[in-house]
Amino acid sequence: MAANGITLEQLYNGFRDPDTIKMLLAKIAQIAPQLPEPLRIMEVCGGHTHSIMKFGLHQLLPDNIDFVHGPGCPVCIMPKERIDQAIALAQQPDVILATLGDMIRVPGSDTSLAKLRAQGADIRALYDPLDALVLAQQNPDKTVVFFAIGFETTTPMSAVLVQQAEAMELDNLLLHVNHVLVPPAIDAVMAGGEATINAFIGPSHVSVITGAKIYQAAVDNYQTPLVVTGFEPVDILEGVLMLVQQAIAGEAKLEIQYRRSVSHDGNLKAQQLVADYFELADAFRWRGLGDIPASALRLKPQFNHRNAELKYAQILPTDPVDDHKACMCGEILKGIKTPQQCKVFGRGCTPQTPMGSCMVSSEGACHAHYKYAGVSL
Ligand code: SF4
Ligand code: SF4
Repeated sequence: MAANGITLEQLYNGFRDPDTIKMLLAKIAQIAPQLPEPLRIMEVCGGHTHSIMKFGLHQLLPDNIDFVHGPGCPVCIMPKERIDQAIALAQQPDVILATLGDMIRVPGSDTSLAKLRAQGADIRALYDPLDALVLAQQNPDKTVVFFAIGFETTTPMSAVLVQQAEAMELDNLLLHVNHVLVPPAIDAVMAGGEATINAFIGPSHVSVITGAKIYQAAVDNYQTPLVVTGFEPVDILEGVLMLVQQAIAGEAKLEIQYRRSVSHDGNLKAQQLVADYFELADAFRWRGLGDIPASALRLKPQFNHRNAELKYAQILPTDPVDDHKACMCGEILKGIKTPQQCKVFGRGCTPQTPMGSCMVSSEGACHAHYKYAGVSL
């Protein structure tokens, strides 16, 4: 029950209301014929992919409007060598490796964290990064390494983790940092020139932290409209309508659909917290997108004592490892191919037997297509 007596379900229902959905779809269908060219909207974020597939929104739009999945899932974009590093850390007898959610199921070069855990390695899947503090307190004779993943949404939690560990003088808590940034990924998709994207919906929760402002450069550089959009069907369809209206008017603007929590500037306190502990890394190799300059964060030098990549540098594999030959995650993350175009989709590769990260992560495009293909409202 929410504080004002409204249940969560009631809150959601407004944003899943069939009449509002039909009204938005009718408006889009009415003006879509005026589009000067087909609108190919990249949803950068895996959370949007999940909602679009779950509610069958892609099937309800006119033929000249398409969704294209993007590189916005932190599990999907993790290159194999980073997973191999987590595996190498977890194989150390003095280490407890902790990470979030789906990460433990993603295959590395030879194994996954989940398989390693089944063989007895001490690997913990946390719901809350701050649980790593408790782990470190309870295991003073071990080193807890938090394998930190996520976009701008989750980085503030890692910053709080470092802040707390410092305050508590917990010397046995380190981080392996894999925090990546959305705008450089958009640059990489657009600079590649292979994906014919001419509109974006941006994830609202990233902008709750960063503000919508992080997308202004992309909008200006590529003259591509971008609407920061929520995750419910009504949000997404309103975002699409705003993009269609811009395209028809020949505009390329940054707009906010999710006005209930997103502002232009975002949460300045959270941004300062992140800036206190992290700085831009020179580059990060993204699965499928390759090295992208200034696309990830690393701990500031004054926190080197918490940097697992430095402390365990001797045992961490660093050579880049490419995907299985059959796997098309790279092309899917670039918006060039769809999951169904992968030969092993639904055959050799299923959520139970994933060959690539896009099938492992519940926010991955292959997983969403496998789970929801054929579903309509
Ligand atoms: S972490 Fe956030 S931004 Fe990234 S795919 Fe998941 S929901 Fe989207
Ligand atoms: S279906 Fe599996 S192998 Fe093919 S692209 Fe998706 S994750 Fe990779």
